[in-house]
Order: sequence, then C-alpha cells, then structure tokens
Amino acid sequence: MESWRIETRCLQEGYKPGNGEPRVLPIFQSTTYKYDSTEHVAKLFDLEVPGHMYTRISNPTVECVENKIASLEGGVGALCTSSGQSASMIAVMNICGCGDHVVSSGTIYGGTYNLFSVTLKKMGVEVSFVDPDASEDEIQKAFRPGTKAVFAETIANPKISVLDIEKFARISKKNNVPLIVDNTFATPILCRPIEFGADIVVHSTTKYMDGHATSVGGAIVDAGSFDWKNGKYPDMTQPDPSYHGVAYTEAFAEKAYITKARVQYMRDIGNCMSPMNAFLTNIGLETLHIRMERHCENAVKVARYLKGSDKVLSVSYPALAEDKYYDMAGKYLPKGCSGVISFRIKGGREEAVRFMDRLKLAAIVVHVADARTAVLHPASSTHRQLSDSQLMDAGIEPDLIRFSVGLENADDIIEDISQALG
Ligand SMILES: *Cc1c(COP(=O)(O)O)cnc(C)c1O
Repeated sequence: MESWRIETRCLQEGYKPGNGEPRVLPIFQSTTYKYDSTEHVAKLFDLEVPGHMYTRISNPTVECVENKIASLEGGVGALCTSSGQSASMIAVMNICGCGDHVVSSGTIYGGTYNLFSVTLKKMGVEVSFVDPDASEDEIQKAFRPGTKAVFAETIANPKISVLDIEKFARISKKNNVPLIVDNTFATPILCRPIEFGADIVVHSTTKYMDGHATSVGGAIVDAGSFDWKNGKYPDMTQPDPSYHGVAYTEAFAEKAYITKARVQYMRDIGNCMSPMNAFLTNIGLETLHIRMERHCENAVKVARYLKGSDKVLSVSYPALAEDKYYDMAGKYLPKGCSGVISFRIKGGREEAVRFMDRLKLAAIVVHVADARTAVLHPASSTHRQLSDSQLMDAGIEPDLIRFSVGLENADDIIEDISQALG
C-alpha cells in the first residue's frame, strides 16, 4: 500500500491499472475463474497459493474495494460483505462459538442490537450490553471467563454519542480480547479507530461509503495487531479440519483473522458483496473525503439552527460546544462529526411525527448517511422491535428524530425545517 494522504487513497488505492488497461475499475461479473491445471486448483483449495477460486470467496472487482477500504482504515486486510449486518455477524462469529460471550455497548444501531440480543443468543452466543459512558471498573463487571470480544460504535446510531475508543481499547486489552468498532457514521475520513487501539473495524458501506443509496454492503477491516495466540482462540491457532489442517495464525501471520473470515466463514455462509455493488461502492469511495467535509459543514449549520429554535427540546450533535460529547469529539473526530444529528421537538411523539410529515425537501426514508437529506423516527422504524426500556438503554426517546443532513445548500435544508416546525 502507498503512503499517500487519505484523500489521494480514496481515488488511487485498490485498482491500479497497468499499461493499456481500463482506467476505471472493471466489473468482473464472473462467478468463476479458469485454470491451466487441476494441480493449480488443488493448491488454491489448500490455500497454498493465492488466487481467486469462486466469487463467493473472492472476486477481482470486490478485492480492489477491499484493498481500498483496508488502506483507508490503516488495516492489513479487509473483507467485503453483502451488508453491514453481515459484517457485524461475521466479525463476531469468526471468533465466537456456542457458549461464548461478547461485551457490547448498549448504544448501537437497532439492527445490531437485534442481531446480538436475539439471533446470536439462539446460536449460543450471549451478549451483555454496557453503558459506553460507564467507568472502566463498571464495564469490567460485564466480563466473564468466556468473553471473546468487545463491540461498540464510533458515533452511535441514532443517539449520536461519541465512543471513548481508547477506554474501550484499554478494557479489551486488559481482558485479552479484541475490540471491534463499527465505524459506519464516522468513516475513515473523520476517524480511524485502529489508530486508537481498535483491533477490528466494521462498516455498513451502504451509508456514507456508497453515499448515494444505491448498494447495500459491508466491510470488515483487520488491524493485524491482535495476539490470537493468547490461548483464548483455538480456532485461530489449531488446525482447521475443513482445510486439511491449516492453522490460520501459522499460515497467515498478522492476516490470520481476516483470512479465516473469508476462507471459512464467507465460504460457508456466503454473504458476499456482488461485483456490481463493489463497483458502485468504489465510485462512492472516490469522493468520500469531499462529501464528508460538506456533510459536516452543513450539519453544523443545521444543528446550530435547531439549537436556537424555541420549538426544539434538545439537540445531539457533538460538534456543538454545548454537547455532552464535545470534548470526546475534539479528540476522536477533529475534522467533524458527520452529517447525522438527532433531536427532540417539544410536544412529544405526536409532534415529532407531525413535523416529519410536514417536511418537503427532507425525505422520510429508512436510510441515513446519503447525499440527499433524510429523516427518520427510530422509535417507529429501525428500533421498533425494542421495548420502551430497551429504547431508553439505547439512548432513544420516543420523540427522538434522526436527521441526516445531505449535500444540498444548507439554507434550503434549514428553510425546510423552519416551515415544518411551523
Ligand atoms: C445501517 C447500519 C448497519 C447495518 O448495515 P446494513 O448495510 O444496513 O446491513 C450497521 N451499523 C450501523 C452503524 C448502521 O448505521
């Protein structure tokens, strides 16, 4: 990988055409690859030589996007997945099995909360949720002998709180387990969790990375720094019977985790990113740095307007000096806090719904982090499955509105909010 600055890497990393080759990343819309000998195929299947076997496991178009995302996050490798949900699922299940345990921040995306609290539980993996703002001693109480990972979000969706990544990294290190950080909202442009001690980074590329709401996708990035040989991860160090006895740490050194995720989990479960979606995600990544700058700039203006309105009860946006997470944002998000704001308007749930229905430019969509301004009421959509007490644990009041500031002129967005507030 190159030592270029991150803006240059958004455009130039991943695909590097040779003389006379297409300038733009080609879409290798092929499930399969051709070989000269059966011996070569056998070596591929024994993981003795690198190369593509089958698009479920790897594909040249997808691989370029994986290399670009790994470079942006500062990892040794990445694996693209069919969605952000798949990325979180594989990131955890790659190192957890029945009987294992995970400590997770309770302030996370509703889909991840459901995955952790219901689906993983059925698979025998138990997740304990902690308050990310609690003291280290308090969080330590959630650990058990079978704890295998810690999970949290850089900027929590939709509470818009900022994670103290170094605190979580310290706790994880003390317990000899990796820290997995969902960096979807911040993107590597605003924060690179690996620089603060995260071991694995996951993304819903569906959001800012794509940026135009065309492709559902996800990614897992491996920092390559975690010591899998500490005795807690036999699946990483002992021979894998499904690969003629390959031991991942021995065969792939610092890439053990991400290789296992691909050749074992992706091979068996099959939630891969399609070449077409990788192509579209790559186009999004090329402008990520510029878009993030404008999302942040517009969001500050909108957040200030909301803060000044007597119709608004409270605003969560960490770039505002009055925000609870202002200092944390100064440390982890010095370039800005993304385009997502959450706020509550006076009058409760009914008034929140009325406000949303009156908006003309901002569209009601089950999506965030997109070029077009969007608005969502988490309690009646993404977090609908949560009980009132689970909602409060996740930091979501029933009247909370999640507002995703787009790339339109900020004055037009503000005028729309103003007329809808009435
Ligand atoms: C949307 C989202 C996810 C899930 O991603 P999908 O691509 O929708 O599966 C995970 N984490 C966060 C923070 C998200 O915003």
